[in-house]
Amino acid sequence: MKLDFLKRKKWVRLELSNQDVKEAAALREAAGLKQSLSTPAVKPEVNSGEVKTAQNVTAAPKAPGPDEAACPGCGAIHSKQRWERSFKVCDQCGKHGRINSKERVAHLVDQGTFSPIAKEVTSIDPLAFPGYKEKLDKAMIQSEAGDAVLTVTGRINGIPAALFIMEPDFMMGSLGSAAGERITRLIETAIENRLPVIGFCASGGARMQEGILSLMQMAKTSAALGRLSAEGLPYIAVLTDPTTGGVTASYAMLGDVILAEPGALIGFAGQRVIEQTIRQSLPDGFQRAEFLVEKGFVDRIVHRAEMKAVLAKLLRLHGFAPALAEATATATAKSTAVNLQGGEAHVS
Ligand SMILES: [Zn+2]
Repeated sequence: MKLDFLKRKKWVRLELSNQDVKEAAALREAAGLKQSLSTPAVKPEVNSGEVKTAQNVTAAPKAPGPDEAACPGCGAIHSKQRWERSFKVCDQCGKHGRINSKERVAHLVDQGTFSPIAKEVTSIDPLAFPGYKEKLDKAMIQSEAGDAVLTVTGRINGIPAALFIMEPDFMMGSLGSAAGERITRLIETAIENRLPVIGFCASGGARMQEGILSLMQMAKTSAALGRLSAEGLPYIAVLTDPTTGGVTASYAMLGDVILAEPGALIGFAGQRVIEQTIRQSLPDGFQRAEFLVEKGFVDRIVHRAEMKAVLAKLLRLHGFAPALAEATATATAKSTAVNLQGGEAHVS
């Protein structure tokens, strides 16, 4: 077996230009964030699933009011408006709250350049699995993405790209046949239009209600990424909290560059299951982004406010340049006309 991939995987050192730093600072200011990027203000106490600070040890958690939101990390109360504006990143403890695909698109994709791909592909219940149909109906109401992944083309600081963004609001982003098909079609669109692919992963794993059909998506999406790579097009994977199971075992780990959000849980099986299987205890926080950077599985941790600037920088490094308006229109013309609120994603 050739081990070329081991040589290929190198630490990527990313220096941001002055312009990038300025852009990131502007984003940070707009989001009301003061602390430095890339490192949470408080080192997450990993392993517990929650970020703990002195604050929630001393003070009893206060329940948020109707116009407020509590930080899932330290329990600090933020006004809803401020919480949304900061893209759910806590300015007290640095915790990156979970955001859905629509919010992610609004954050990353240039206004007016967003175009969905394969939105007509939705889940069915191929095995007549008990209770699955009801769960699907509920998820369809909960999430506007229409399935566990939202696939779009759009521009990032002017640079055309194909993006898939997993949807935690749709059955915890579990990978079913429809999600696998959407990702595959997006990659095929990228190959056709010579676009780079960026994938935001957030998933509980393969969707067990679809049995082997969901497991097959791991191979299908991986094969599509193989074709993308053979075409010389880059794939950037961004691992967000949580990225687990079959998604980790396939496309989440296949990025030419692998980024992660601070404190993200990334793994295959849970800690307890592994410990019971190998009959050994595991080091603290071994499934957190910070640990995986140390071990070389992840190239860099990127703060959410900095994400757009870093992605644009990576695309430029790979030879992609901002396109003229007409060029992007051609690239996105093949996608379906169905859209989120008239072709533009908004954060309400
Ligand atoms: Zn917090």
